[in-house]
Amino acid sequence: MKLRPQGLENIGNTCYMNSLLQCLLSIASFQTEILSYGQKKKKSLTRSIRNLVHTKGRAELSQLRNDIIKLSDGQFKHNKQEDSHELFRFLIEQLHSENRNAHEKFSYPQPKNMLDFQDQASWWYEREKNRNSSFIFDLFRSIQAEIICCSSCNFRVKIKFQSMFDINLALGGSDSLQVLVNNYFSAGLEENSIVCQNCNAEIESTIRIPKFIVFPQILTIQLNRFKSDQRGRVQKDNSPIKVPLFLDLTSFQYNILGKGQREFIYRLKGIVHHSGSTGGGHYIAQFISCLLIPYRDIHNEVDDGWYCCNDSSVRLTCQSSVTENRSSSPYLLFYEQVPDS
Ligand SMILES: [Zn+2]
Repeated sequence: MKLRPQGLENIGNTCYMNSLLQCLLSIASFQTEILSYGQKKKKSLTRSIRNLVHTKGRAELSQLRNDIIKLSDGQFKHNKQEDSHELFRFLIEQLHSENRNAHEKFSYPQPKNMLDFQDQASWWYEREKNRNSSFIFDLFRSIQAEIICCSSCNFRVKIKFQSMFDINLALGGSDSLQVLVNNYFSAGLEENSIVCQNCNAEIESTIRIPKFIVFPQILTIQLNRFKSDQRGRVQKDNSPIKVPLFLDLTSFQYNILGKGQREFIYRLKGIVHHSGSTGGGHYIAQFISCLLIPYRDIHNEVDDGWYCCNDSSVRLTCQSSVTENRSSSPYLLFYEQVPDS
């Protein structure tokens, strides 16, 4: 099977959709699942994406766009430029609901001690695994935990868990993506007025420490470029950023499953770029394409180089031009976990 890319025609302000699809479909694990599940589902978004994989034709793209417009209940509209990240979220939710596995009723009671991290985290993990499983969740979902501590005595006042499909990074302060990721996971103060049950102090803020209890296979990062100002007008932040080939998330793990610490290294697979302003802009995609070469029943991924897709135009590009330049256009980034050796 070849994943060598073909362009996608712009059928009326669809560059936001084309760029996202180019990135997602260049990820071999995603494409393989879409091809296998899409075959089983008759009328569905999964099926429409599968049809597009085979042809990359105008008719299939148009069908997929119509499905998105219909299923999103007007969130996405004909001939209107939309946000690639909003489309990503919509596709993930929709593909998950079409392909979720049947589940048994989850009947473990939640552990009583709300501050016992290990018990709460294991319960959350089991519940999530039981209630929400699909190939989409296996690929994109992470579970994050936040331990919230008293800023006066460090006592643990609360634990929060959250399933996520992407992380949203604030820009500024550095042009290094690794630094922005480190900032995201570093302990931060949060306004929170409570009376600490340990030291009885009335505190105004708590310390929040977020980490993963389950890492995603595919890490999706949205750079927070679109922000509302005081008058509610959306402004674009054009801070330049360098996108590295590898990201190291090893130090951001809470180990709950007793498997011991391991490395979590991610390799860049694709970037959706947005250029221009909030009023008018254009999306393009850069991604690494791969060939799936079957060998003894295993599909081995072989890199086929970096490509740049601007709607229907596709050109080969070099890795250094993707990862060595500072640029103000990267918007969505897709990284895949490197298997533990
Ligand atoms: Zn305290």
